[in-house]
Amino acid sequence: MIDISRGDVLGSSGASDLFQILRDGRSRTRTELANLTGLARSTIALRVDALMQLGLVSPTADAPSTGGRPSSQFALATDIKVVLAVDIGASHVRIAVSDPAGRPLEEDSANIEVARGPEAVLNWVIEAGDALIKKTGRSLSDLLAIGVGLPGPVEYSTGLPINPPIMPGWDRFDVPAWLKGHFNVPILVDNDVNIMALGEREVAWPDVEHLIFVKVATGIGSGLISGGILQRGAQGIAGDIGHVQVPRGADVPCHCGNRGCLEALASGPAMARALREQGHDTASSQDVVELVKHGNLDAIQAVRQAGRDLGEVLTACVSLVNPSVIVIGGSMAQAGEHLIAGVREVVYARSMPLATAHLQITQSNVGANAAVLGAGMLAIHHALSPARVEAMVSNIDAIAAGA
Ligand SMILES: [Zn+2]
Repeated sequence: MIDISRGDVLGSSGASDLFQILRDGRSRTRTELANLTGLARSTIALRVDALMQLGLVSPTADAPSTGGRPSSQFALATDIKVVLAVDIGASHVRIAVSDPAGRPLEEDSANIEVARGPEAVLNWVIEAGDALIKKTGRSLSDLLAIGVGLPGPVEYSTGLPINPPIMPGWDRFDVPAWLKGHFNVPILVDNDVNIMALGEREVAWPDVEHLIFVKVATGIGSGLISGGILQRGAQGIAGDIGHVQVPRGADVPCHCGNRGCLEALASGPAMARALREQGHDTASSQDVVELVKHGNLDAIQAVRQAGRDLGEVLTACVSLVNPSVIVIGGSMAQAGEHLIAGVREVVYARSMPLATAHLQITQSNVGANAAVLGAGMLAIHHALSPARVEAMVSNIDAIAAGA
């Protein structure tokens, strides 16, 4: 497992134990660390030294101790190491250099069609990544890992996009190898909805352990966080709810080859098509959002019905995983409360009372930044996991022993 459940910080031995305690950013003295871990102060000192050598922990402002002599404190170092966060969309790429707490330090973006193929897009990422790292005053040796989100299905274990419908030339393209050839750090690749779920959770719901993030845009998908861990399932396709059949849609054809899929009825293009049939000039999702904002009744009804369709599928999800928060994001979330109202109408009416007693169904707080923030968290969760930190510490131990 790459993700770390909060609270599960004492799972391994050695310096990474200390580091997982310090990851919350709070400063602590050696004595506090000794009390928390039960380790001798001399052992703590050795491990803190190793973590400082790695640039993961740094001394912070001294606090007066009881004897009047200031005692050193230590915390997660946010001014040395960085990760690169990359959000590749259908027609845009956003990239950020973030500190180990997930805060973006420098950002850039470009309008690049993903259909231009992996080499063109990833070469832009390499060039922009180099420039941004330089801008923060860091070098490539300060880079811990890279997180990448792609707008299609990804086999998480290998980082390969698999038959992505809107990404010609990307099928099974080795994204990690291409980027690793230049950056030489771990490369984590996931689909855009999963990284949006990570970003939304990190920023808006840090204490929530059970959350479903739903993206409603050109397509419909969801990212599922259960027990504090992003659930990808056996092949990385968990949460792909767009092609579940909904009762209203028996005959509507879907681009997947089936009929009556949620995506064929409730996505932005599906709503635009339904409104065109009613005589409105709606070519895109954005046109639907605009009509709703102008109070057009047909558009409001179409969005609300899409919310109900989504609610049908989410009712099953609520029964299965009992989330405490469902967040609706993606471009159609800009249609505001009407979409959410449709979802609530069905989910609250059809779920067991205990499942909805404390269930919140709400619009994304993080909006367009969720994906790039989530890509950063994907990289950080991996780079700062107990196993990785342990490996980095043994590496310096090995170098010291060989010297
Ligand atoms: Zn379908």
